[in-house]
Amino acid sequence: MEPISSRRDFLRMTAIAAAGLPLARPLIPSIAHRVTPTTVGQERKLGFALVGLGNLSTHQLAPALQKTKYCRLAGIVTGTPIKAATWKDRYGIPDRSIYSYDTMERMADNRDIDVVHIVTPNALHARDTIKAARAGKHVLCEKPMEVSTEKCQQMIDEVKKAGRQLAIGYRCRFEPHHLAMLRVAKEKESGDVRLIEAAYGFAIGDPTQWRLNRALAGGGPLMDVGIYAVQFAEMLAEQYPVAVTGMTPIKSDPVKFKDVEESMTFELKFANGISASCTTTYKVNGLDRATAYAERGSFGLTPAFDYYGIKGWRSDGKPLDAPQVDQFATEMDNFAECIINNRPTSVAGEMGLRDVRTMMALYESARTGRTVALA
Ligand code: NAD
Repeated sequence: MEPISSRRDFLRMTAIAAAGLPLARPLIPSIAHRVTPTTVGQERKLGFALVGLGNLSTHQLAPALQKTKYCRLAGIVTGTPIKAATWKDRYGIPDRSIYSYDTMERMADNRDIDVVHIVTPNALHARDTIKAARAGKHVLCEKPMEVSTEKCQQMIDEVKKAGRQLAIGYRCRFEPHHLAMLRVAKEKESGDVRLIEAAYGFAIGDPTQWRLNRALAGGGPLMDVGIYAVQFAEMLAEQYPVAVTGMTPIKSDPVKFKDVEESMTFELKFANGISASCTTTYKVNGLDRATAYAERGSFGLTPAFDYYGIKGWRSDGKPLDAPQVDQFATEMDNFAECIINNRPTSVAGEMGLRDVRTMMALYESARTGRTVALA
């Protein structure tokens, strides 16, 4: 297989991925263009505001923004004054572009900010997305989209009403090894894919964190990292599952995990005959792999979902190579390009909603012991 060796190849693969996804065909009849990209050198750059300056914003998103081609860090929203001061110094953010959760509506008057990236706990995504939409901004919302399908629908409706775009932070859709997997599957290099296996988990620390609080997280590892397995299976199957079965094993620490599942194993069935067997957990580190079993061989990624160092392999010994990139930078650049070129994102809110629906069905299945059908 031809490795993806240049940025041009990578962008071509991104286009293949976007084109090959009937999953995400958001209908945005007219995205009124209120975007006023700043020109830096020869490039047009959209201003991004980060909402919630926790781990992801601090250690991944802000550094990634410095590596993007079409984006720049233009504003922040935080409830913590000391963070505002630190970020102002580090990134030269002007006072007029620093907001609290209560004042972010005022972004409506700030032409430096085009896109609001929501990076708060899962159950706050609708609150923050709606504020951003009402301020007339495009929204990139972290996964999972929200904790209920009703809230996801509300987000879609509000962003649509504002005539803006809503994308979900599915970074792996812009990661070259994942795109290489998609290409091998699409081109049937090992025949039709029949079975997918995916697993992602980590040992969670602090028992007081919001990820263990159902009200804020919506669930346990399934909502947080199991969603990557769901996404991977959907990407290769090129459709959403029609039936799901979930099982939550007995908890080894029922006190720590009193509110959410500690682990889940689950099965997704697709109408084209593909099935996916997946595992997710907050119990151990190192669970990070994805494999596609096709008619004449298998191919996969180990590790599959980390931020860095993803590696591909094929059972026929051919390479499954691709460049290492900053996935957050490629994700943000892709969204910026969609906005600049008035093209719909391939990771729209509709996709986020479908995934939340799938995960809710998995919880129902685990609760009832039955397979749950999804129309
Ligand atoms: P975090 O706990 O490190 O940060 C959350 C931020 O939200 C903090 O700044 C916190 O102060 C703020 N916040 C505002 N209101 C809050 C409240 N009521 N309770 C708790 N915190 C509140 O979390 P994180 O790891 O940065 O995750 C944030 C979001 O990003 C989540 O939705 C998560 O699923 C997502 N995420 C995505 C990826 C990815 O690879 N795409 C990776 C990690 C996290």
